[in-house]
Amino acid sequence: MNSVLPKILIVDDLPANLSAMRKILSKVEAQMFEAESGEDALALCAEHDFALALLDVNMPIMNGFQLAEILYGVKRTKGLPIIFVTATETDSYQILQGYEVGAVDFVRKPIDNRILLSKVSVFLDLNNKRRAIEKSALLLQEKNQQLEHEIDKRHLAEEKIGRAYESRIAISKLLQTVLDPVSLEVQLETVLEILFSVPWLSLKRKGGIFLVDPATSELVLACSSGYADEQLDICARIKPGQCLCGKALQRKQIIFSSSNDKDHEFQYKGLEPHGHYCIPLLNSDQVFGVLNLYVSDDHKPLAEEEEFLSSASNTIVGLIERRSLERQLKQQAQFDELTGLPNRVLFHDRLNQAIKFAKRSGKDVILMFLDLDRFKLVNDTMGHEAGDVLLKMAAQRINSCVRDSDTVARLGGDEFTVILPQLTHPFYVELVTRKILEQLATPFNLPQGVASVSGSIGVTCFPSDADSAEGLIKHADSAMYQAKTAGRSTFRFFTKEMNTFMSERYKLEAELRKGLANEEMLIYYQPKIDMKTNIIIGMEALVRWNRPEHGIILPSEFIPLAEETKLIETLDMWVMENACKQNKIWIDMGYSDLVVSVNLSTVQFRRGVELLDSISSILKKTGVPPQLLEIEITESMLMENVDEAVVTMKGIRDMGIQIALDDFGTGYSSLSALKRFPLQTLKIDRSFVLELIEDSDDQEIVSAIISLAQKLKMSVVAEGVETNEQLDFLKENCCDIVQGFFHSPPVSVEEFSKLLKDKRL
Ligand code: C2E
Ligand code: CA
Ligand code: CA
Repeated sequence: MNSVLPKILIVDDLPANLSAMRKILSKVEAQMFEAESGEDALALCAEHDFALALLDVNMPIMNGFQLAEILYGVKRTKGLPIIFVTATETDSYQILQGYEVGAVDFVRKPIDNRILLSKVSVFLDLNNKRRAIEKSALLLQEKNQQLEHEIDKRHLAEEKIGRAYESRIAISKLLQTVLDPVSLEVQLETVLEILFSVPWLSLKRKGGIFLVDPATSELVLACSSGYADEQLDICARIKPGQCLCGKALQRKQIIFSSSNDKDHEFQYKGLEPHGHYCIPLLNSDQVFGVLNLYVSDDHKPLAEEEEFLSSASNTIVGLIERRSLERQLKQQAQFDELTGLPNRVLFHDRLNQAIKFAKRSGKDVILMFLDLDRFKLVNDTMGHEAGDVLLKMAAQRINSCVRDSDTVARLGGDEFTVILPQLTHPFYVELVTRKILEQLATPFNLPQGVASVSGSIGVTCFPSDADSAEGLIKHADSAMYQAKTAGRSTFRFFTKEMNTFMSERYKLEAELRKGLANEEMLIYYQPKIDMKTNIIIGMEALVRWNRPEHGIILPSEFIPLAEETKLIETLDMWVMENACKQNKIWIDMGYSDLVVSVNLSTVQFRRGVELLDSISSILKKTGVPPQLLEIEITESMLMENVDEAVVTMKGIRDMGIQIALDDFGTGYSSLSALKRFPLQTLKIDRSFVLELIEDSDDQEIVSAIISLAQKLKMSVVAEGVETNEQLDFLKENCCDIVQGFFHSPPVSVEEFSKLLKDKRL
């Protein structure tokens, strides 16, 4: 019970005073503590919580004020109400001092009992109230803390719920991507984006997905985000066990590494300190790849995070597995198992697609049906296995005859089809069919022995033969049947017209070949005239074919065919050799500085070094100095295969031969392209000269070409000059050289010799 009573401290150096005060205060419900000195008082204060202190002011060693000062300086007694007991003689200054150190009140000696009692009880009362307030404040504080704690807990739970929700959304998004009809790479890119967008994951927007290459067991980077160029190179392939990703692959465990520059086996420029997760993409024991995600440098791994990432990785594995299954199924559904060629299903698909496209582009589609002759015999006599090997080899051979954009399919048995979509050149059909027949007629070396078969091909054309896939197939089939009955190793077109057209071409080619061998070719020469001096400075060699029963045939009728077949190589070289031979004769006659120009077909430039060898051997053989030979090439050649063309042309230049760009203005060569080629001359195309006088556009073009040539330090030849007016215009515009009917058409050797004699001398 005592402990609940308030405690009062009485300090006085005189025991008599102490007992007097005790007496007075005995009526107060409080516990009394007495001290005879400041030191004793302090000791008591350290032990007890007093509700009130009565301090005698006048005490030796430490007076009341000093004691109060100390008490107020100590936390425990800071708010202690103090009543100073002062002698009567205490002046107002002292009282002031007392208030300064924190006194609450004063009583004067001799003590008036009633005053003391009433003051003490007021203070005790106040003290009780204060205590009560303090207590409830404490309670309140406790409650507050409890509440705060509760709120924290709620926040945490909410956060957790939020994370779970976000994770669920992310996983469902991942599941959705599984069904996206896009490539695996695109799907994986989406996967990365989804992971980056999960708000509570502390991922940097940087990471990559590696897939295991089954052939090498290495990790191949399938997609990435935020990788530096150097990193892309380095991480393109990672060996198992190499770097952190390779380790995750090997250990089949998530690896978290913080600030792991040191852990990186590969250092590259721009590698900043970073942490990352390497998560193996696992299904039971098979690893499909590794997910590499970057987190900030100071990131602490969270169990929750790892849990989420590993379930995300499961979804990714599902996605990869589904893809490979799909691929397998698709392969089985669309491709022939034996040969790997598209099967009937894919063939129909491709044919329909080609037709659809051709309808829009206005181009032709060619469909070929191909059947192997005598295949049954091989099967029957050498066995099915031999037959299978032969079909595989035949498939490869047929495929080797077409372009990548064409489709070779196997319909079953020994039946194949070929689709040539977007046909631009009718000769290409013939070229392909003949190549295929040639290929199939070559004996097959099978493990079981040598087998000889051949092919029969039926050809139809969309839209001229039929306007639907079904129609085309029917016609191709019947054309093939015709080919079979006509004898083996042949092809037939569905339409009569096509057949006659093709057999005409066939005949023409055979005759041209013969004509080349029989020296039926002639060369005409057309003079080139120097505008300033008006004398012949050279001539262009233009080929003619003196075809038996047809007379002289112009190049436009046989050059395209020669270009389709390899005949152009022989033809051009024949022209070059004979033109040089003739020029040598003129040189020896005294016309020692005539430059002979020879046209080279674009096709020639594909021969590269071989062409250079041919030219140099012609020069050697004929003894014509290289500077008296000029080669004319067309603009289209420049465009075709620029790098290769430049190399070949430089080779020609290095021999000392001049190069002219023919038909200039009709193509699309850009100025910058022009500069790359070692050209000496531009030949303005005939079409610009033709209407030069009537058409002001052409005038502008011609004068522009002339000034362009001057800037590039090239000379200019105007072709097809027929009239005086044209000549005048060209002269005014400083054209160097002219060539055309105005001076002379291309003429025979005899006539050209006459021209030389008349005009030059
Ligand atoms: P090209 O190289 O542009 O030759 C100039 C053509 O213009 C020649 O036709 C020539 O007869 C004609 N021509 C010249 N002046 C005039 C004129 O004032 N008016 C008109 N209307 N025509 C004129 P050609 O001889 O029929 O040759 C045609 C094309 O055949 C040549 O065009 C050339 O591209 C090609 N060619 C000729 N010979 C050969 C050759 O040996 N090899 C190769 N690959 N192509 C050749
Ligand atoms: Ca020419
Ligand atoms: Ca020309």
